[in-house]
Amino acid sequence: MSDLYFQDIFKVMHPDKVRSPELADIQNKSSRILVPLSLGSSSTVMLDVLNDTLNEQKATQRGRTGFYVDVLLCYLKSEFQELRDRAKELSAARYTDNRENIKFHFIELESFFNHQNFEKLIINDDYLCSSKLDTQPYNLKDFLERCPNRTSREDLLTFVIRRLVKRYAYQHNHKAILWGHSMTKLADETISLIVKGRGEHINSLFNCSELDQGYGEKFRHLYPLKDILLSEVDAYCYSAGLDKHLMNYTAQDTLLLQKRGDIKPDGKLIRNMTINEMVRKYFDDIEGDYSNVISTVVRTADKLAEPKSMESNVKCSLCRGNIHTRGSEWLQSITINNGCSPENQEDRQLYANWYDSDLRKERDEHLELMRSVSLQGESAPLCYGCIITLGGVKNKCVTWPQSTDRELNQTLEEFVLADD
Ligand SMILES: [Zn+2]
Repeated sequence: MSDLYFQDIFKVMHPDKVRSPELADIQNKSSRILVPLSLGSSSTVMLDVLNDTLNEQKATQRGRTGFYVDVLLCYLKSEFQELRDRAKELSAARYTDNRENIKFHFIELESFFNHQNFEKLIINDDYLCSSKLDTQPYNLKDFLERCPNRTSREDLLTFVIRRLVKRYAYQHNHKAILWGHSMTKLADETISLIVKGRGEHINSLFNCSELDQGYGEKFRHLYPLKDILLSEVDAYCYSAGLDKHLMNYTAQDTLLLQKRGDIKPDGKLIRNMTINEMVRKYFDDIEGDYSNVISTVVRTADKLAEPKSMESNVKCSLCRGNIHTRGSEWLQSITINNGCSPENQEDRQLYANWYDSDLRKERDEHLELMRSVSLQGESAPLCYGCIITLGGVKNKCVTWPQSTDRELNQTLEEFVLADD
């Protein structure tokens, strides 16, 4: 709240010498913020604190409030029923007094692919990317089936969600997006970005002091829980009675004197984890004794500036981040891609095994696709992290909406949670 921009959003405007009562109302009503809600502990706690803030404003400012909250839940079709029921319960249990100020909206992840112009993005053996217009209709299921690697799937889904949330804010004139990330979550995002070769994008993730340039400079981002550890958020969940409203997440009881017996440790094997899950596990493990490591990571990340661009204003075709390094050149310089013929019996046997396997089929498919795309397509800029991600996708090829004004302005179909 030390920032004037955010002060203006949350402050209650009163009629005074220069401001008529109507104008004060309009100003309060136009202060809209967007809260993406996953029903994990952090975003749920943040929403609850916003509700408390509204109550406090009503009590101290003669019934007036300074801002309006749109809660956005992005869902997969299979989760919709449960998600809607949970949101309904949460809203009925806690937010009926602020029904006017807090509205719940639902957007299916599928809508990312609706009514779009697509392009096929494919990388070749030199890590260069080509793109070609694709007129076939495309959907989320096709998209997810192309991601056999859990890390690349999680990566691409994160882009889908973030782009949907930002597009929603753009279309509905929100002044800020409030992300629920705790300090722990921001630390694991930071380290995961570095591990995935996306370190150049840390600054844009943390940037709360500038309007988002990719979306018409209409809103800013804010992380109100960035000074709070996940274990603290989770403890708050229990003490505020929010734990029963969470979905796909069990709050930890590490800070509680009275432990909850029903929390099972996550039995996932390390080798099955995505990079984000692995880093999360690391921070979970050290949060008790070495929590200062977490705040050091976040404070350092917060200080990182945007790297100097090699070419100004070149955006990645996949993640839309600014490109600062020539990833493909560097990868070419450390990789040898020329084949060599089998020399002895063992080589020949291995070659025969490969020749009969699905890997060869996939390789042929990739070459076929590559030929068709590079014949009619054009080269597309890709950041280093996305080159790596695309390498983990089937045939190193992904179908992606073209980034155009049309994408930005294509209205998202939504459900709104109503009282009935
Ligand atoms: Zn990228």
